[in-house]
Amino acid sequence: HPKVSDRVQNMNESATIKMSQKARELRAQGHEVISLSLGEPDFDTPEHIKEAAIQALHDGKTKYTPVPGILPLRDAIVDKFKSDNGLEYSVNQIVVSNGAKQSLANACLALLNPGDEAIILAPYWVSYIEIAKLAGGKPVVVSAGIEQDFKVTPKQLEAAITDKSRVVMFSSPSNPTGSVYSREELEALAEVLRKYPNIIVIADEIYEHINFGDKHTSIASLDGMLDRTVTINGFSKGYAMTGWRLGYMGAPLWIAKACAKIQGQTTSGANSFSQEAAVIALRNKSDEMDIMRKTFEKRKRLVSDKLREIPGIQVPNPTGAFYIFPNVSSYFGKSSGVTKIANADDFAEYLLTEAHVATVSGSAFGNDDCIRISYAASEKELNTALDRIKAALEKLK
Ligand code: PLP
Repeated sequence: HPKVSDRVQNMNESATIKMSQKARELRAQGHEVISLSLGEPDFDTPEHIKEAAIQALHDGKTKYTPVPGILPLRDAIVDKFKSDNGLEYSVNQIVVSNGAKQSLANACLALLNPGDEAIILAPYWVSYIEIAKLAGGKPVVVSAGIEQDFKVTPKQLEAAITDKSRVVMFSSPSNPTGSVYSREELEALAEVLRKYPNIIVIADEIYEHINFGDKHTSIASLDGMLDRTVTINGFSKGYAMTGWRLGYMGAPLWIAKACAKIQGQTTSGANSFSQEAAVIALRNKSDEMDIMRKTFEKRKRLVSDKLREIPGIQVPNPTGAFYIFPNVSSYFGKSSGVTKIANADDFAEYLLTEAHVATVSGSAFGNDDCIRISYAASEKELNTALDRIKAALEKLK
């Protein structure tokens, strides 16, 4: 048959999906596999949000929606940006989408020409690279290791900037590391960026509400940054609404218009009853989000304490999201007698086949020394998984 486009041929398959597939195979063979590889909360959507969607269906909210989102939701997002983040957007600067992922894709499609450089702060969320490439851009990776808490310095950022640089993309709180850029750290990055007015920041704040440290800072709230930042957020993580497919951006008007234009010719407006329910999610805050955040924080402590008991693992102290990204490189070169561990891919695969615990190799996120452990799992599962990991690693010599 004829071939698929170069665009698709140049695309990497998601590593997370590959691990899930292997885990499924082991399960089919009767093994009890614990999955710590997922990027979604294990909680259900709060009841009052579900009720709002059901009500919307009964009210006949089943038609096409305006491309940039229903007005009550965009109004609620304007208020949210103002009260939570100190960002002053007008309603026509808000574009609602089918998930933060679509907002990221829209922003890249709107901003990148072939050959333009997209600076991506690593460890990065896997899709940034593929989305930038899909949009014709060239990913330029700036890496930060565990010794700098996985956060790039202003010096590193500046060194990566060329006259082809068009966007800088990062998430804070971060997937995969759980690191959070402090206000001061963002200010230092903004100071560099102010010298390069042609660069637009794409700030992915989807994990904003899962933050155990200082109050979240939006880089757009810093001096001079509002007019050159696309702030991306959504409902998947903080509200446990991954399946609802709803995200949004606040952006300079010219970018918001471009994104609405793209959406108008590709997916149209997002799901009608999801949007109605999202208004309630933003307007009627419930305790559940607080409870979820506290639960994640408790699990983080559990997982990091247990990881620290394992010799040779360097354990960071993440302050957000629901991931931990330990450095496991001291195991490289060791062997169980059957399996030799050469890198993070081998390490993650060894944990899956030997301990029946699914994690994700750091190589998927631009870091070859670490693995990502998601603690969006019950305490019981986490305890068992970490005990199994410890036992499996004791076999490596
Ligand atoms: N950005 C980051 C950093 C993520 O980890 C994810 C989900 O894994 C997304 C965006 C996608 O969010 P959504 O479900 O809203 O598309």
